[in-house]
Amino acid sequence: MEKRVAIVTGASRGIGRGIAMRLARDGRHVVAVARNAAQLEALCAEIAAAGGSAEARTCDLADGQAVQRMVEEVSEKHGRLDILVNNAGITKDGLLMRMSDADFDDVINVNLRSVFIACRAAARPMLRGKFGRIVNIGSVSGVEGNKGQANYAAAKAGLIGLTKSVAKELGSKGITANVVAPGFVETDMTAFLGPDDKKKVCEHITVGRLGTPEDIAAAVSYLAADDAGYVTGQVLVVDGGLPM
Ligand code: NAP
Repeated sequence: MEKRVAIVTGASRGIGRGIAMRLARDGRHVVAVARNAAQLEALCAEIAAAGGSAEARTCDLADGQAVQRMVEEVSEKHGRLDILVNNAGITKDGLLMRMSDADFDDVINVNLRSVFIACRAAARPMLRGKFGRIVNIGSVSGVEGNKGQANYAAAKAGLIGLTKSVAKELGSKGITANVVAPGFVETDMTAFLGPDDKKKVCEHITVGRLGTPEDIAAAVSYLAADDAGYVTGQVLVVDGGLPM
């Protein structure tokens, strides 16, 4: 059988990079998507050096038409699309009373609207292939809410409703859709935490450390596997045991 084709958004760094490396190691052909071409090329070279296969594709996920085009072009090029990991995300934090309309809209646009468009575009090739694994990267903020993150938490909570709906619509066709909701993971997104903040956060985490991209990638790898076909519409929290 030809390799399964997996799109991973936000693959240039952080969690998405870890997911791309892991899916390539699992034997998938990875289409690594983000805006930074140089970082994507470096990732693909690393995957190739490790014996895997990957290609880079730049796309600004804030542009809905570009998202639609990207998914269609990947599916046409390979004649299939098996796995879609919507990982890319941004934060524009601020307390409710100070949050601008633009900061709300930007976060909804990249973190939620692009995921809707990607899922819609992926449905056709997945239905044709009678197989699909959609994994959307949420956040504990979307499950519990978080101070200073009304925009981000709303987008991530919306992602759960979107994913459960997709799961229900496509479940009988061999297509699953699930959310992986990370807690604190060491990436650029959490780089604002100083050493003291990290120490404090870790005191509240049951396993006593921040997460790594590999921790999240392991959960995605499971949900994207052929034999995970009986798990759908779920939110898998991967937070090391973090009471919010
Ligand atoms: P990160 O290190 O900031 O990386 C974000 C990724 O998203 C980058 O690859 C970036 O690539 C891409 N991206 C951002 N805006 C984009 C756009 N408009 N178009 C295309 N790509 C875009 O973040 P991370 O920590 O790995 O987070 C990954 C996911 O996990 C996000 O959905 C985040 O909400 C979620 N998450 C993270 C944590 C955490 O603690 N880190 C916790 C819970 C959930 P370019 O800049 O190259 O475009």
